Amino acid sequence: MRVDVSSLLSVAWRRTLDMVFPPRCVGCRSFGSFLCSHCLATMPRAQPPRCPVCWMPVLSPAEGPGAGGACRRCRRQPFAFEAARCPFIYDGAAREAVHALKYQGVSAIAEVMARAMAECLDEWKPPVAALLPVPLTGARRRSRGYNQSEMLARELSRLNGLPVATGILVRRRAAQPQARAADEPARRANVADAFAVRRRSSPVGPLLLVDDVMTSGATLDACARTLRGAGYGPVYALTFARED
Ligand SMILES: [Zn+2]
Ligand SMILES: [Zn+2]
Repeated sequence: MRVDVSSLLSVAWRRTLDMVFPPRCVGCRSFGSFLCSHCLATMPRAQPPRCPVCWMPVLSPAEGPGAGGACRRCRRQPFAFEAARCPFIYDGAAREAVHALKYQGVSAIAEVMARAMAECLDEWKPPVAALLPVPLTGARRRSRGYNQSEMLARELSRLNGLPVATGILVRRRAAQPQARAADEPARRANVADAFAVRRRSSPVGPLLLVDDVMTSGATLDACARTLRGAGYGPVYALTFARED
């Protein structure tokens, strides 16, 4: 039997950390887990009716799936990905969970977040062959110590057995901070050349981009566009939450 020393060490390290810093729910601050079952059950879910492509809530019946597919925004300026899904709306405990993972170094919360994403994926069933975390720039990754999207992808991979494809896509620069109100073309232009394909590997089949939050979809679009331009794909996207 092959003993995976690094995973044994990581379990031991996690147990040590749990003793020093007992897990505490990011939603209600109760002890016992990073996200308690109550907060998880009451988190705002990204429920249909939504656009089958970008998963934005459908505002009027004229925009809905009944009207023949994608929302007006997707029809006006199509995304390079086939479709995006997420289990939650970026609000309440879902927002706290993302903040804990991204800014407070609570990497262990990725496990429970990925479980919700795996359930969403089971229901959705896109025809994907590999998971591809949205990359960070090298500097950002070093300062945070890890890439939160990669954490989610690795936990997701443990749950559904899909391989994690790293090293294909790299991030050349971070997006400039920009106002929430920035319009769609401005958002897309801001990240348009932020990614690059590092090397052409053997065909990997349809890819699932993994990220923590989808805001306008511009980042996922830029990743998908870069991948498609290099002959990869089709590309789907799964995030933990989205801003409605
Ligand atoms: Zn809680
Ligand atoms: Zn849409």
